[in-house]
Amino acid sequence: MPIQLDTLLAEEKSDHLLMQNTPHHIVCIEDEEDIQEIIAFNLERAGYQVSLAGDGVQGLALAKASQPDLILLDVMLPRLNGMQVCQKLRANAATQDIPIIMLSARSEEVDIVKGLTGGADDYITKPFSQAELIARIQAALRRKPKSIALTVKQVSLDPEDFTCKVDGRLIKLTSTEFKLLMALMQKPGRAFSREQLIQAALGDQTDVVDRNVDVHIRAIRKALGSDNAIIETVRGVGYRCYNGDR
Ligand code: CA
Repeated sequence: MPIQLDTLLAEEKSDHLLMQNTPHHIVCIEDEEDIQEIIAFNLERAGYQVSLAGDGVQGLALAKASQPDLILLDVMLPRLNGMQVCQKLRANAATQDIPIIMLSARSEEVDIVKGLTGGADDYITKPFSQAELIARIQAALRRKPKSIALTVKQVSLDPEDFTCKVDGRLIKLTSTEFKLLMALMQKPGRAFSREQLIQAALGDQTDVVDRNVDVHIRAIRKALGSDNAIIETVRGVGYRCYNGDR
């Protein structure tokens, strides 16, 4: 009996899922429904998890809430256009490092878009083949920086094995404390509100019992010791990590 097409597609999909333990999540912001559908179909077939938004405002909210691995962003969109969405994504701590591929209707448009956004990682001109789209997505995901050890003053964090050391001495932190400190240390000098910090460190993780940032920060400061005051309070805002300027 011939193998059914569905079976072949399912096998192909499971191969991709095996290759990448957690499927990469892609947010596609595109107002044309037929393009949305074809992109979603092909990316899901290639093993990606896809979320769709039909306008700029919705897309921006979806990107902030879900912090995907990559964003496909159409240029001409209702409510907020793609360039405005791109600028807002780059200005937000939670979304500034997410690779963005802009989908542009005309090749001349690409130059204008490049000039105005500066923040996109790649551009594709419509109509594009699905093979090209997937190749560009893979390339953008590969370029995404890997987590490396972070050091500020005598404090160093290793995101690979979740260890924190002060002067080479191991310090005990809870996993929530570690993630909060890492979020701060990844962006030295950047002031986070408490809400932004929670979002940057924990995303939409729902199993965090205590979302009281101040309590965690107090515990981290105590663990690091007073010689290592790398977490600074920013009046009226929240917290930031020492960046060597002061
Ligand atoms: Ca459009």
